[in-house]
Amino acid sequence: MNLTFSLYRLQTYDTQLLRIKKRIREIDQILQSDAEVAEALKARDEIKAEVDSIESELKLLSDQVHEKHIKAQLTHNALFDGKGRSLKELQDLQAEDKALKRAIEKLENDQLEVTARHDEALVALTDAENHYTETVNRRLAENSLILGEKSNLEAQIPGINSQRKALMNPLPADVIEEYQALFRAKHGRAVAAVDDEFCSACGIELKPSELQQVKSQSLLFKCKSCGRILYYP
Ligand SMILES: [Zn+2]
Repeated sequence: MNLTFSLYRLQTYDTQLLRIKKRIREIDQILQSDAEVAEALKARDEIKAEVDSIESELKLLSDQVHEKHIKAQLTHNALFDGKGRSLKELQDLQAEDKALKRAIEKLENDQLEVTARHDEALVALTDAENHYTETVNRRLAENSLILGEKSNLEAQIPGINSQRKALMNPLPADVIEEYQALFRAKHGRAVAAVDDEFCSACGIELKPSELQQVKSQSLLFKCKSCGRILYYP
């Protein structure tokens, strides 16, 4: 049996599986945390809060204007109700009437200024809402692309697993165990090819006698320097 060639191929499949599983984990993370959508939503909510705050300002101003109008009406009525008031009383009423008119004028100017701010904020809110909707839709389209990639990757796994099984079936259990322990310890590179009499993993040169043993391919021969199983291609 060509032991080292089988292990070398097994390593190729194991490496593929690791890569596929790593990418699937990355995709799952991308799907779970969508910073762009969260940012667009935050921006929209901030502008919405600003619009709400301006609207309560407007409501307050409108209540104040209404209240002053009622007072002005009462003052006006009192001025002309013909109840023989003293000159002092009439002067006070006139002064109050003027003060109320000034107050109403000031409040109405404030209303104009706040209304202009309200209009601007509404435009900004529409923009932010459009941006949010556009971001959500775009991310959905992008996510559907990587969802497609994920299902492609998942579909490859059974095929690779059955190839691995077929390779592993004739191998002795202790050889598989040794390979797997080395695969973990050497971060996915348990088997190294010999390249022009050198170990392709660590670069050390093999003695002719060592090379001979590697070429036999029927027993495991490990690199004296890096400990990997050597394979002669
Ligand atoms: Zn080596």
